[in-house]
Amino acid sequence: QAKKQGKNTWRFYDERCHQTATEELQLDAQLRVALTRGEFEVHYQPLVRLGDERVLGFEALLRWLSPVLGPVPPLKFIPVAEEHGLIHDLGAWVLQEALGQVKRWRDGAFPELHVSVNVSAHQFAREDFVGAIREALRAHALPGNALMLELTESALITDLHGSVAKLRELHGLGVRFALDDFGTGYSSLSYLQQLPVQVLKIDRSFVRDMDSTGVPLLQALITMAHALDLTVIAEGVETPGQLDVLRGLHCDLGQGYLFGHPQPADVAGAALEQESSGTPLARLGQPAS
Ligand code: C2E
Ligand code: MG
Ligand code: MG
Ligand code: MG
Repeated sequence: QAKKQGKNTWRFYDERCHQTATEELQLDAQLRVALTRGEFEVHYQPLVRLGDERVLGFEALLRWLSPVLGPVPPLKFIPVAEEHGLIHDLGAWVLQEALGQVKRWRDGAFPELHVSVNVSAHQFAREDFVGAIREALRAHALPGNALMLELTESALITDLHGSVAKLRELHGLGVRFALDDFGTGYSSLSYLQQLPVQVLKIDRSFVRDMDSTGVPLLQALITMAHALDLTVIAEGVETPGQLDVLRGLHCDLGQGYLFGHPQPADVAGAALEQESSGTPLARLGQPAS
C-alpha cells in the first residue's frame, strides 16, 4: 500500500515538474516578446524621511501588464527571467527608465531626489556590472548620488571579496547601496561589518509583526544598524500606529502603503508636488495601485 502510494506520489510530482518547466519556458518566451513590445512599466514608490515626512527618493519597481495574462507580479516573472538569462536585458531596461525619470525630476523642482533600483544577484555577478552602471550614469548626465542600488545579502556573500571591490568602486562615484529585505537571509551578522553598504532596508515582516513580538526585535535591528553608521529604511509601513512606533525607535526612513503605493511616474510625480507644497504623504490618502 505504502509502496503504491509512493509510486503515485512520484508520478504526480513528475508530471507537475514537467508542467512547471513547460510553463516556465512559455513565460520566458512571453517575457522576451513583452520587452520588445513595451509591455513593461516602472512604478515608483516614495521613500520618506520619518522625522518630517519628506520624500527623499523613490524605489523603482517593475510592472508587467501582459495583454494575455493580465498583470503579472514581479515575484512570479523575475525568477524566470533570472533562470533564463533575460534578467540582464530587463535589468538594463529598468535602469535606463529609472535614471531617465530621476533625471527629469531632478532637472525640475527636485534636484536632490534619488532613485533606488533593485539589482538581481545575476546582474551584480557580471564582470561588467560596474562599467554598465558608470556608463548609464554618464549617459544620463547624473551624479552617482542620484542612484541607490538594492541588493540582497545572498547576492553579495557568494563572492565577498569581489563584491566589496565592486561596492567600493561604485560608492567612489557616489552611488549608495542598500541591503534589501534585511533580516530574512541566513548570513552572519559579521558580513555586515565587511560590506561597504550605507543603507539597511528592514524587511516588512518585522514591521508587520511589531504588534505581537516585533518591537524588541525592531529596536535591536535599528540600534545595531545605527551602531554601524547605517541608514535604516523600514519596509511595509501601512498604518499610523506603525509610523509612531518606528519614529519612537529612531528609524530614519519608511516605505509603504501609508505613504504611497508604487505608481506610474506621472502619478508619483503629482504626489511629490503635493508633498513639497506641504501636505504629508501619510495624510494624502493614496488610491490602491
Ligand atoms: P522589494 O525590493 O523588497 O520591493 C518591495 C515590495 O514590497 C514591492 O513588491 C512593493 O510593492 C511591496 N510593498 C511596498 N509597500 C508595501 C506595503 O506597505 N505593504 C505590502 N504588503 N507590500 C508593500 P513588488 O513590487 O511586488 O516587488 C516584489 C519584489 O520583486 C521586490 O521586492 C524585488 O525583490 C523584486 N523586483 C521588483 N522590481 C524589480 C526589478 O526591477 N529588478 C529586480 N531584480 N527585482 C525587482
Ligand atoms: Mg527593493
Ligand atoms: Mg525590499
Ligand atoms: Mg521585501
